[in-house]
Amino acid sequence: MKLSAAIALLSLVALISLPAQSTNGSSTMAAPSADRPGRDPKQPIDEEYTKKILEYTTEKFFLSPLVDYLPASRTVPTPKVVLGDIAGAPNKLPYSKEVYEYMRRLDAASPRVRVYTIGQTEEGRDMIAVAVASEALMNRLDENKANLAKLADPRTLNFNDAEAARLAATTAPVYYITGTIHSPEAGAPTALMELAYRIAVDESPYVKHIRDNLITLITPIVEVDGRDRQVDIFNWHMKYPDRTWPVLIYWGKYVAHDNNRDAMGVTLKLTENVLNTYVDWKAQVLHDLHESVPYLYDNTIGDGPYNAWVDPLLTNEWHMIGWNNVQEMTRLGMPGVFAFGAFDTWSPGYLMFIAATHNGISRLYETFGNGGSAETLERTLSESQTSRTWYRQNPPLPRVKWSLRNNNNYEQTGVLVSLNYFATNKRLFLQNFYEKSKRSILKAKTEGPAAYVLPANDPRPGAQAELLKVMQKQRVEISRASAPFTVTVPRRAVGQTGNRAGGPGQNDSTSGARRDTTATRSTTREFPAGSYIIRMDQPYSRIADALLDYQYWAPNDPQTNPYDDTGWTFPEGFATQALRITDTTVLKVPVQTVTGTIVAPGGITGSGDIFLINANADNALTTLRYKLRQADFQAAEEPFESGGQRYARGSFIIRGVANNIMDAAAKELGLKVAATGSAPSVKTHPVRAARIAIMHTWASTQTEGWWRLAFDNLQIPFEYISTQEASRDANLRAKYDVILFPPGGGNAQSIVQGMAMWRNPMPWKNSPDTPNISTLAQTDDIRPGLGWTGVANLETFVKQGGVLVGVENTANFAITFGFAQGVTMTTPTGNAVVGSLLRTRLVDDASPIVYGVKDSLAVYSSSGESFSAGTSRGGGRGGGGGPAQRATGRGTPDDADAVQGRPALEDRFMLPPRQTVQPWQLGPVTDDMLRNPTNLIPPEQRPRIVMRFSEQRDLLVSGLLNGGGNIAQRPVVVDVPLERGHVVLFANNPVWRGYTHGTYALVFNTIMHFDNLNAGRKLDEK
Ligand SMILES: [Zn+2]
Repeated sequence: MKLSAAIALLSLVALISLPAQSTNGSSTMAAPSADRPGRDPKQPIDEEYTKKILEYTTEKFFLSPLVDYLPASRTVPTPKVVLGDIAGAPNKLPYSKEVYEYMRRLDAASPRVRVYTIGQTEEGRDMIAVAVASEALMNRLDENKANLAKLADPRTLNFNDAEAARLAATTAPVYYITGTIHSPEAGAPTALMELAYRIAVDESPYVKHIRDNLITLITPIVEVDGRDRQVDIFNWHMKYPDRTWPVLIYWGKYVAHDNNRDAMGVTLKLTENVLNTYVDWKAQVLHDLHESVPYLYDNTIGDGPYNAWVDPLLTNEWHMIGWNNVQEMTRLGMPGVFAFGAFDTWSPGYLMFIAATHNGISRLYETFGNGGSAETLERTLSESQTSRTWYRQNPPLPRVKWSLRNNNNYEQTGVLVSLNYFATNKRLFLQNFYEKSKRSILKAKTEGPAAYVLPANDPRPGAQAELLKVMQKQRVEISRASAPFTVTVPRRAVGQTGNRAGGPGQNDSTSGARRDTTATRSTTREFPAGSYIIRMDQPYSRIADALLDYQYWAPNDPQTNPYDDTGWTFPEGFATQALRITDTTVLKVPVQTVTGTIVAPGGITGSGDIFLINANADNALTTLRYKLRQADFQAAEEPFESGGQRYARGSFIIRGVANNIMDAAAKELGLKVAATGSAPSVKTHPVRAARIAIMHTWASTQTEGWWRLAFDNLQIPFEYISTQEASRDANLRAKYDVILFPPGGGNAQSIVQGMAMWRNPMPWKNSPDTPNISTLAQTDDIRPGLGWTGVANLETFVKQGGVLVGVENTANFAITFGFAQGVTMTTPTGNAVVGSLLRTRLVDDASPIVYGVKDSLAVYSSSGESFSAGTSRGGGRGGGGGPAQRATGRGTPDDADAVQGRPALEDRFMLPPRQTVQPWQLGPVTDDMLRNPTNLIPPEQRPRIVMRFSEQRDLLVSGLLNGGGNIAQRPVVVDVPLERGHVVLFANNPVWRGYTHGTYALVFNTIMHFDNLNAGRKLDEK
């Protein structure tokens, strides 16, 4: 350790008597000033509080002159009034209500503090934002906000740069700080309580400079539901210190760590509330506090590749602020402060990225937490964490005692340094804010595109409306063409697969010939009146462009560890069209601005008491089935025509519902219904409102949380059961028709075994000690898994006619335990795929699972998982992949060899011509296999390949695809009969983070047709 004992001793003395002195022991420090931290000697300190700060900080160099004292106030209470001790005291994590109570007491006591409720969580808890600034600033908040609004939308200034410069010089920026979105990263709330106090009370020139020049906005707890549960678990641990304690299985109601991956889809309340607060305050920065890396990693700068849609001005701002942070904290003597690091800045899914995609500055800290504990712990670090590198010249120490207070010191010091820097450079940053907003508007005519067009004649208006609602949540302006219009579109679009192409294409050549892209480059396309236009000449064009465009992550990118999903192209994920238009004449199309909630057009046309609805895989079709439970729904097993309209296979024929009820439901859900007096003559089967269970493990519930969220949003009812409940229920079939087992981590063995059964039970249950666990799912002991009885119960369930759905790792579970004979699963090694969208093709369009689903659907693939299927038990395909190759011998590659000295063979000795078996096919059944077919699966029990991956050259839709030869053309959705029931397996995850609405239908169809999945099936002859 470089810091000598003498200096430490010196500082100790200095700290107690003269808290203003720097902890680095220098005696030649300049006097405190607006840019030099240090207390105002004229302001008294809170002696007792200050003493505790020193006591709870484990080493003096974990302090800074910004936090080594607490200024005293006669009128404003310190956090102690609520906490009973200081912020960051050992063994105390406050609940949200305590944090809020303190913030509200600050508000009551200080004219410099105001608390706003910014919305509620899924479980009804409040979210708040606390504004702190000088009285003068607080008194002109509205005026200031009006100025910021002008800078945020240069159209309101007629792009008058001089006026913008004047406003930038006279307006205070808003710096928004958010804490503890990740519940086990638990330190931020106390740090932010104390921070609010300091900014409101401290008379030091450094802090006064902050207060006078900018508005600090604080949401102390982002994941409020998870916070209260985390405190429950921590308190339980404190009460029973000798027992092992459960990890925080549920954070929010739906997802855990992924709550910080929702800034694209905006499906969670916390994202929506923070986004609205950020945009409504016209803030310049969103700074999110996390805790996992020692001691302070400012990952704002991050590493490449940078997001390709944000303004380059932002990347410079990241560097300015980030490196200033490192420099100043290093100057203050705090070890382990660094920037850059391993985090790539590609995905816009992180909460903080709301700022980046809305012309502001996204920031993120990782400080060092103790994993959700407020205890002071001995911590040892790995060599990779403590090594000195170019971007970490003063690395963390190999072994230290670490306290919550240390963490709070780092968080507050880092934030105060940032706020001070921002206050000093506010004019530059506001000028940049204006420039970025302006360039976002000019984008339509500079780099383009000019707009995205969502055609009024999209065959999936429901999916289109769902996508537009995301745009609305992102505060993107949407307009509608008042008349038909024609614009130039790229020629290469035509006939190509997917929307890249300007419409789904059908070219399924396996020849491998490359498309000719050098032909005529453009053509024109007419769009009907009512088409939606998302113009890029608006302030928030960048978020729209980032979500609607395609992503390409080069397989040879220097960044070999993508931090998260590499592709997300929303129109592909939603299976709806959004055409990227570079032709600026689109900006001259007469339009009306869209206000209010967008719903697809719906309602009844025609008359009669039989209702027809075309199958287009829109999600609202399933909602309707459950909404009209008493009605008789039939599905057509073949396409048909009625009233001059063509209906796809799977279309609904509905009886037994009153016209007015159907009309109201159709309007609400955006479904076009044709009434008729006579039903079409077509083979049908009933579509029942199946009884659904979503099953979870007690190991991880996050990924299935996205499924629950989708089902709740679409009002599709389900029961929520754990693998433990399945293990106890020998008659699951009596309760459920379909059991969905969404992915949840762990392998087949751990799903069965659960956690290790040694030591004590670990309850996840509401109790007087743990009142916030919630009743969503409870158990006396999270350790037991599905168990062998559970496996048997699931098998019985399927054999009795139930449907089990397995996805990714749970598909592998089903395969491992023999539920899906003939199927195996493969995950390529290395980074072949990292959260990408991949192209698929329909194999069996008569399967009800793909009713209404368009060919060439894009699916979300986590790691390139795929299946292999064959006719024999144990899995594996009969046929070989690739073309047959002749052996070395005489002749050309196509000739037969000849054995010398033997007559040429007669035909009867020759094999029949070899059949080419495609990678998705089961392979032929030979006479040899039929001789004693012990392991040959009978035709009606063989896997039915519903969907496969596309050819390799068409496989990548969006993101990273490295190779893909062992993914291309292989099965992705497989339906396996098992006696009277079915096991339906997905290699993709069809319900993911609110951006795969286009593949929900695969699950919903499985549910609605659970007892008719064999419809349209052609059995093998032998
Ligand atoms: Zn985190």
